[in-house]
Amino acid sequence: MPHVITRHCAGTCDTVCAQVCPIECIHGPIAHATLRSVPAAERGVRFPGVQLYIDPDECIDCGCCVDVCPASAIHMDCDVPLELRADIEANARFFGRRVR
Ligand code: SF4
Ligand code: SF4
Repeated sequence: MPHVITRHCAGTCDTVCAQVCPIECIHGPIAHATLRSVPAAERGVRFPGVQLYIDPDECIDCGCCVDVCPASAIHMDCDVPLELRADIEANARFFGRRVR
């Protein structure tokens, strides 16, 4: 029952969740350092649609990432809102995993 980053990350994508994750299982298509190097106001324009994802086979469900997210984009997979359920698969797919 891993945590999942939904599409609401895109546009903010500040990598704060990745910085607090104790096992470094949060990644995305753009290096964290690159994302952090761009001012917040410009990130959504420079990297449209880019978000981070959680590796479902590595996440230990500690919950550390949830409260630090300014976009409220992170949920346990069982709590992902109905209209965002496809994002569970998107997280798994990014890492070549199957949804558990
Ligand atoms: S719940 Fe914990 S282990 Fe899972 S992604 Fe968030 S910080 Fe990392
Ligand atoms: S903290 Fe939230 S907005 Fe920032 S990268 Fe993580 S999921 Fe995206």
